[in-house]
Amino acid sequence: MGLFDRIKKAFSAEPEKETPVEQDQAIPETPVESDATPVESQTPAETAAAEKTETDEPASLATEDDSETVSPLDTPTAAPVNSEPEPEPEPEPEPEPEPEPEPEPEPEPEPEPEPEPVEASAVTEESDAIEEVPETEAVTGDMQAAETKKYDDGLEKSRLTFGQRLNALFANFRSVDEAFFDDVEEMLIEADVGYETAMKIADELRDEVKLRNVKKPEAVSQAIVEKLVDLYGQEGQAEDNQLHFAPQGELTVFLFVGVNGAGKTTSIGKFAHQLEKAGKKVLLAAGDTFRAGAIEQLQEWGRRDNVPVVASAAGSDPASVVYDAVKRAKEEQFDILLVDTAGRLQNNVNLMKELEKVKRIITREVPAAPQEVLLVLDATTGQNALVQAKQFKQTTDVTGIVLTKLDGSAKGGIVLAVRTELHLPVKMVGLGEQMNDLQLFDPNRFVYGLFKDIIVGDGPQKTTDTDVSQAIK
Ligand code: GDP
Repeated sequence: MGLFDRIKKAFSAEPEKETPVEQDQAIPETPVESDATPVESQTPAETAAAEKTETDEPASLATEDDSETVSPLDTPTAAPVNSEPEPEPEPEPEPEPEPEPEPEPEPEPEPEPEPEPVEASAVTEESDAIEEVPETEAVTGDMQAAETKKYDDGLEKSRLTFGQRLNALFANFRSVDEAFFDDVEEMLIEADVGYETAMKIADELRDEVKLRNVKKPEAVSQAIVEKLVDLYGQEGQAEDNQLHFAPQGELTVFLFVGVNGAGKTTSIGKFAHQLEKAGKKVLLAAGDTFRAGAIEQLQEWGRRDNVPVVASAAGSDPASVVYDAVKRAKEEQFDILLVDTAGRLQNNVNLMKELEKVKRIITREVPAAPQEVLLVLDATTGQNALVQAKQFKQTTDVTGIVLTKLDGSAKGGIVLAVRTELHLPVKMVGLGEQMNDLQLFDPNRFVYGLFKDIIVGDGPQKTTDTDVSQAIK
């Protein structure tokens, strides 16, 4: 059974009949006391296996919906510094940074205890409120529905636009001929699924139409989406969408890279909040010493999240800020350090070298780190984001993608192109402006959110329209 049929089956099921959460995601386990029923964790291999086997369940996320308990933080108006919905990233006339002296971090004589291999650990993030609820099955069912709804809402614009494109494709439809296949290709390219994907789908559609003698527009629509989804499933079989953390008790470092305006600082702020709520000791490093206001923006997030920030004056050497942050994180036994970096043009050699230097310093101080180098991409920029990513990938060991602003974008199809053309795993997605709208990536929910009208129509999701906080009362 292809991914299309698996998703159809999973999301067509009545929510009450769904088995409780199958945990597959990734905020690492926290020693925080919890009465909530422990949730099964899943290794990446298990997750991949689950994807390959015919699961009846959509994968579930580590979830948190505490919008009521942290309301001052969650309101869009409380977003830091620049909270307008989606500014285009400026074209970045980045001047060369003045040649900065190599920071001379004092050598650290004692070798680190040999780090264990990095593993994805997988434990649900449990909000305090959830712990008070005895009927965990009902709650986890509702949590799943709430998570699905986030994808559903966050991808609405992309879904509607895709639907409109399909409608337009069939508006002048007469017959399934060569001109029609050209239109299909064009429509898919415009939907940002990627050139190669568009060609492949059109070719397969040609064969299928002949083979099955498909003629009706609805059947052809269905076949297009089925092929898109199945291709996405096939290409993702070996993909690891989990975030990787150091073993318990060791420092994890995540480095966030990407061009200005992509959403690095905002994503760090949101993620830090979620980690902090999960009981983690979190430190932030204001490594973007270049963009005006970036340090203050991160410090503002630190205040909101109640998380310390290591920073120095604007214009100072980012490598030395990062060195100080790693040192402090080790000395004060932080669990996780999130490092912001200056937005840079991916083709600016000096700036890319500077990024490498930051990474080298982290690895020198903590050999297993950074566990993730996350490239933040703005989904609203569509194919540009893909071009950026290809260039970043050539010069930096990117381990995963954070795809932001999907809520404001009609270009959700970019997720398909990221997988089929870039071969980098998406690990987090920004589905809105609120704290909890930064979500660990769930491919099945994503695909469902993007194509649900065609996969199952407007079926059962409408009845599961509950968010966690409502479910708890
Ligand atoms: P940076 O230069 O990469 O650090 O980008 P910022 O973090 O400053 O983000 C630029 C803008 O994008 C800010 O106005 C954020 O509020 C906005 N933003 C970031 N992520 C999202 C998202 O997932 N959805 C929406 N709607 N806006 C976002």
